[in-house]
Amino acid sequence: MAYDDQNIFAKILRGEIPCDKVYENDHALAFRDIAPQAPVHVLVIPKGRYVSMADFSANASDAEMAALLRAVGKVARDAGVEDTGYRILANHGPDSRQEVPHLHIHVFGGRDMGGMIPQS
Ligand code: AMP
Repeated sequence: MAYDDQNIFAKILRGEIPCDKVYENDHALAFRDIAPQAPVHVLVIPKGRYVSMADFSANASDAEMAALLRAVGKVARDAGVEDTGYRILANHGPDSRQEVPHLHIHVFGGRDMGGMIPQS
């Protein structure tokens, strides 16, 4: 899948549309999901042009990969869900119903998350 520079997260990264930022480092940005599915629902994205985890892990630098993972951990700690628990999730492609074609890791928490994979 080719990277689409018009996707909504690319526009957020360019500052063309706003986001509710919770954390940023050199290579990653974290902001609240616009339609939260849990009391804590934050999206963590690389600042680079990566469609998916496969693309990112094959093409990103070690610094970019470290920054993304460190951002995920920081977001969970700062959200106060380290003890109660949380779920991280990244969708890719049609079977996962990915909506935005820029790699993003969801961080969900603040309530019981239910079973791991819905059956429908
Ligand atoms: P996915 O289905 O994994 O591609 O998830 C895309 C997520 O992006 C959804 O949870 C949307 O609610 C969220 N989203 C879409 N547009 C925005 C936006 N402008 N700001 C924050 N979150 C957004």
